[in-house]
Amino acid sequence: METVHTSQPTYPHNNLTIITHPLVSHKLSIIRNKNTDRLMFRNTLKEISQLMTFVVTQNLPLQLTQVETPLTNCESMILRAPISVVSILRAGLGMSQGIMAMIPEATEGCIGLYRNHDTLEAVNYLIKLPKKHDGLYILVDPMLATGNSAIAAIEIMTKQGISVDQIAFMALIAAPEGVHKLHKHCPSLKIFLASLDEGLNQSAYIVPGLGDAGDRLFGS
Ligand code: URA
Repeated sequence: METVHTSQPTYPHNNLTIITHPLVSHKLSIIRNKNTDRLMFRNTLKEISQLMTFVVTQNLPLQLTQVETPLTNCESMILRAPISVVSILRAGLGMSQGIMAMIPEATEGCIGLYRNHDTLEAVNYLIKLPKKHDGLYILVDPMLATGNSAIAAIEIMTKQGISVDQIAFMALIAAPEGVHKLHKHCPSLKIFLASLDEGLNQSAYIVPGLGDAGDRLFGS
């Protein structure tokens, strides 16, 4: 069996991180496989999102606090600012579950968007954002395809007063077209992926991708 050692790929913009941890790569193979059933797909998406959360949150600011242990008092560190998870419906829900398992105190919101199949534009049908704060908003959608949904969601969030620098966009798989478009629209946005795939097919599906994330997650 050929052994492949992974290293962090480079990509020509600073705000893109591709998480190539061996566990993420392994789980990505499971989730891409068309024979993976819905339960396994759902669990694996949650697990990958948990692993990715480690990287997305690794530079969060901390503050000192005092904690009383059963033995004595000590100084300890806690997160300085709140965190929110905003799912782009519906497939984003599969990722938010993993993040919420890691950060149960995070507040949650959702943005409902569907793709107009003729124009490929994102049309919004629901906006429920968490109470505004000065911390981090993790915006999630497993597939960054054309970039239209991500851009629409970020426009909705920034119109509500959230700054782009407060947002981390987390997707499982992206097409280069979507990354370029999103980066061009918001150059300072931090983007986290598990894989940057080859591109989009004529129906704007990511190739090789994993198919329709929402359908595979919800069994529709
Ligand atoms: N949305 C999906 O679910 N899959 C793709 O490949 C592209 C967009």
